[in-house]
Order: sequence, then structure tokens, then C-alpha cells
Amino acid sequence: MKEDNYRHKGMRRILVEDLKNKGISDNNVLNAINSVPRHFFLDSSFLEFAYQDKAFPIGSGQTISQPMTVAFQTSLLKIEKGMKVLEIGTGSGYQACVLAEMGAKVFTMERQRNLYAKTKTFLSEFNYNIKTFLGDGNKGLPTFGPFDRIIITAAAPEIPQNLVDQLKVGGIMVIPLSENEDTQTMLRLTKQEDGSMAREEYGDFRFVPMLKNLGND
Ligand code: SAH
Repeated sequence: MKEDNYRHKGMRRILVEDLKNKGISDNNVLNAINSVPRHFFLDSSFLEFAYQDKAFPIGSGQTISQPMTVAFQTSLLKIEKGMKVLEIGTGSGYQACVLAEMGAKVFTMERQRNLYAKTKTFLSEFNYNIKTFLGDGNKGLPTFGPFDRIIITAAAPEIPQNLVDQLKVGGIMVIPLSENEDTQTMLRLTKQEDGSMAREEYGDFRFVPMLKNLGND
């Protein structure tokens, strides 16, 4: 386990202030970001950048999402303690830790074998309630559902019907949906009694693409 010293904690408090100034108001989200040592999730060559509000490469051509994006998606989810949350796109594991820090039971899926293996080992060093899975997030985890919340952290070309099916009635899905080549519209979808999804839109974001099947590309 790497060191989390007073300097890192100080930089985290400044990051949290920055996120507050940018409009994040959910204290549970801000407290979680204040608690999770983001510098553990970056290669050591990026250590000094860990607490800037920027996305960074984590190997395997993937990125750790920008703190503002993590804070924004997490706020939209309205997490309560004990909720079952499915995350698509484990990546570095940072978003999963923020959710677990808030008391969620996290199930997270990654399609890239190397990244899955690396992050699984890394996450086992924490005491968080996180289960990692190698698999295609388009399929979800039917045997572990239904879920209270689903968060997709890659640019989705469409809303995966399997994931809609694995969401509880009244449950929330947060998904960056690709509506053109470059950007995604952040959607919050709430499942209705009749199975349809109520849709709210929250502006443009940029994510790496959500792909089909497994790989190491
Ligand atoms: N949540 C991550 C950031 C994710 S970047 C973090 O906190 O660091 C997006 C991730 O989604 C990448 O790791 C990518 O490999 C993964 N991904 C892309 N398509 C996927 C799919 N169909 N199923 C599961 N993971 C997928």
C-alpha cells in the first residue's frame, strides 16, 4: 500500500473545494472524494497530477475519469448505504472505491483482461465491499441483479436492454450516451413501474468507448 500523508490529504481538500466551486453540493459525494486517496490509482509518474481535476492514462489505453466527472455521475446516482450498485468499466477502480466509501455494495465489470487482473489485485488491498468481474458490460450480471443503481463509465452507443432488465423498479441508471462521434450526453434514467425509463439530460461529456466482448486492446 502506498503512503497517504498530510500533503496528499491537503491536496485532496483543495480538490474537494474545487469540485464544490464547480457545483457539486452532495456532501456524501464530497466526503467520499475527500477520503479515497486518488494518487494510489495513478502510475507514480503522474503522482503530482493526482489531485488536479483532470483525466489521466492508467495503461491499456484507458483513463481514470476526471474527478468532476466522477463527482457528477456519483451525485446523479443518489446513493444510499447498502444499495447494490453495478458499475460498467472498472478501469482504475477509483469510481468503484468512491461508491463503496459511500456504503454501496459494488459490482464492477471490466472487459480488458490485463486491466481487470491488475485492478482486481489492487482493490483487494482495500477493505471495501467491491466485487470485480471480467466481462462485457453490455450483458451485465444477471445472476447478481437486480440492482438499485447502474453506472456506465464508458461512452455507450445505445442503452443496453440487459442493463435495463437488471435494474429495480424505481432504480436509477446513469449513462453517457453517444449521440455523435465526439461527445456523450449524460443521462439519468429512472425505471418506471411499466418498465419504461424516465429520462433526464445533464450536458456533454467525453468518455472512452464502450466496446463489445472481451479484449486486451
Ligand atoms: N470507472 C473507471 C474509468 C473507466 S474508463 C475509473 O474509475 O477509473 C472506461 C473503462 O470501461 C475502460 O477501462 C474500458 O476498458 C471499459 N469498458 C469499455 N467497454 C466495456 C464493456 N463493454 N464492458 C466492461 N467494461 C468496458
